[in-house]
Amino acid sequence: MAFSVPPLPYAFDALEPYIDKMTMEIHHDKHHGAYVTNLNKALESAPNLQSKSLEELLANQCAIVPDNIKTAVRNNAGGAINHDMFWKIMAPKAGGNPSGNIGQAINSTFGSFDSFKEKINAAGAGRFGSGWAWLVKKGSGIEIISTANQDSPVMDGLFPIMGVDVWEHAYYLKYQNRRPEYLAAWWNVVNWPEIEKRFNSAK
Ligand code: MN
Repeated sequence: MAFSVPPLPYAFDALEPYIDKMTMEIHHDKHHGAYVTNLNKALESAPNLQSKSLEELLANQCAIVPDNIKTAVRNNAGGAINHDMFWKIMAPKAGGNPSGNIGQAINSTFGSFDSFKEKINAAGAGRFGSGWAWLVKKGSGIEIISTANQDSPVMDGLFPIMGVDVWEHAYYLKYQNRRPEYLAAWWNVVNWPEIEKRFNSAK
């Protein structure tokens, strides 16, 4: 069974004015679409891997993937799993302050929600080139990291609770070179109930 792109769980223009419709169309259909197409293509030569989950393909630096397709799987399975999460942890009429277990964990780890936001924004703004800023589950705690390209925290055994895409394709049409402005706006579409679910299910 080939991998596919799940439909966006809301309309392309639902995250306006923070993320514009055209960015969402191109990002979901073309960019996420290409990761899935290229992953399926790479796995044509490894039929035994086609039934694996994205997590299984990425685990331990793609340990189960043969060398000749390792880079393609790392980039494209990473792109697929990162975007599967990204669409879900955003929603229209969202944002605000986190509550529940995730709200507590953020406050106890980072002191306050504002301080957490600052650290995520700094991780995103400071990522040179393309990549992601993440909040991950590590052991019994949580931690902010960033990764390059489409590298997933799953490759290092970390569970991504939430992450923000800082590739230019995520913001350039509306924000051009102003990545910090995109990051500031992004908090208005963060879907805390979904992030709470991910946090509670994190292994
Ligand atoms: Mn992206």
